[in-house]
Amino acid sequence: MVSRTIPVDPFDLIIIGGTGDLARRKILPALFRRFVAGQMGKGSQVIGAARTEMDTPAYRQMVSDAIAEFGGPEKKDKANLKKFLATVCYITLDARGTAGWEELGETVHSENIRAFYFSVGPGLFGDLAKRLHKYGMSDDRCRIVVEKPFGHDLASARELNAVLAKHFDESQIYRIDHYLGKETVQNLMAVRFGNMLFEPLWNSQYVDHIQITVSESVGVGGRGGYYDKSGAMRDMMQNHLMQLFCLIAMEPPAKFDPDSVRDEKLKVIRALDPLAPENIVRGQYEATETKPSYRKQVGNRDSTTESFVALKANISNWRWAGTPFYLRTGKRLRERASEIAVVFKDAPHSIFGEDAGRHRNILTIKLQPNEGIVLGVTIKEPGPGGMRLIDVPLDMTFAEALGPEQAGFPDAYERLIMDVIRGNQTLFMRGDEVEAAWAWTDPIIAAFGEQDPPLPYATGSSGPDEALALIHRDGRAWREIKA
Ligand code: NAD
Repeated sequence: MVSRTIPVDPFDLIIIGGTGDLARRKILPALFRRFVAGQMGKGSQVIGAARTEMDTPAYRQMVSDAIAEFGGPEKKDKANLKKFLATVCYITLDARGTAGWEELGETVHSENIRAFYFSVGPGLFGDLAKRLHKYGMSDDRCRIVVEKPFGHDLASARELNAVLAKHFDESQIYRIDHYLGKETVQNLMAVRFGNMLFEPLWNSQYVDHIQITVSESVGVGGRGGYYDKSGAMRDMMQNHLMQLFCLIAMEPPAKFDPDSVRDEKLKVIRALDPLAPENIVRGQYEATETKPSYRKQVGNRDSTTESFVALKANISNWRWAGTPFYLRTGKRLRERASEIAVVFKDAPHSIFGEDAGRHRNILTIKLQPNEGIVLGVTIKEPGPGGMRLIDVPLDMTFAEALGPEQAGFPDAYERLIMDVIRGNQTLFMRGDEVEAAWAWTDPIIAAFGEQDPPLPYATGSSGPDEALALIHRDGRAWREIKA
């Protein structure tokens, strides 16, 4: 299969916070990979900008080190690395002051698409937006990319939206959720809306329930201070899990364009029932012999912040009334594994008798660590000996289907950055979507104060036992967390 890299117009990518962790781990390696793929055309440049005093040669060294540490196999391509570094420069810039802004204005190519990646804390978004406008860089060739967390509740998200809207049109604002940039998430839409097979069954008549799991095996690490103010509900559920949930549950958009897709996602959030307290379980991981407990790690022995959350959500609309969605996410769980499982109902009547057992079709969309889509199909066990049924996976893993050349898919950041340059907002969250997600989660979080503290769970487990009970009481079971 031929490579399908589609060139984009020359662009300037300005990473504000260009010396930070996100820039080094994700953005810069992603840009280099696109450069090697030939997608960063002549005349494009990468401008790192941050408070740190540094000159361009030192920054290039930092970029080279970051690619060596976090890049993929292409990092061995020294010739391309040299050419890529030649497109990189650095400006010392103060988001809150005047330093660096005039120089930035002179450095950007006015004829290029200009994407300003706000890789800084959200407290600086307003200052940056104001200065981009003041220094004449906010015209319609300018786009801004903002990272999570987009607010910590509805009020702060509204405030952020208002601050950005003062100087930018919604069509210029790209709110990133890197889960949406995953190849499989887009493939999910192709599978749903490109085939006749699934959509007629995609409703409460045929789907028993849906599970979404985003499981991490690591703890909070060095992010303890930040995490303890946030928790799993804010850090993961409100954004990543709810975004996946919207894509699974939404009605078919009329077109695969940004507003059609985002309108449908928004309708899902608005149709969610408020969450009853008995439909949520929170947990906090305990220590092991070698690893500290959550409370120890965040340095707060009385912390009531959850490192795990499981909930059962119901959507009140014609398609989904009666089909529950079980969502869970947490740290220090058994494995790093993320998946969506669409569990179809049993066949209404088994013609094969009791011995055939119970068989269900499950469509599994795996997101992490390996991506892929698998449909569990019931067939006859081959060979003589009567009609015995077994479940076999029908593997729709595109990497195998499309051939080895396609295995090196762009990672989520590569795809999303290129979408920014192309001006395609389909995989980015619109302001009203983010606000609606907060409007649903705010009362849930507010109720935590009146509820029992999070339940302890063992490192390497699937979360507290009560999370198992949350689904068991409906006669269902979580899928095993496995990579
Ligand atoms: P970081 O602390 O490592 O880096 C922050 C960057 O901002 C540095 O380059 C710093 O010099 C710059 N900066 C700080 N104050 C500034 C100012 N006044 N003027 C100019 N530059 C200033 O943070 P990070 O981990 O890179 O995260 C950046 C943003 O991305 C945060 O909002 C974070 O929540 C979000 N995020 C990070 C990750 C990640 O993997 N690191 C993942 C998702 C979201």
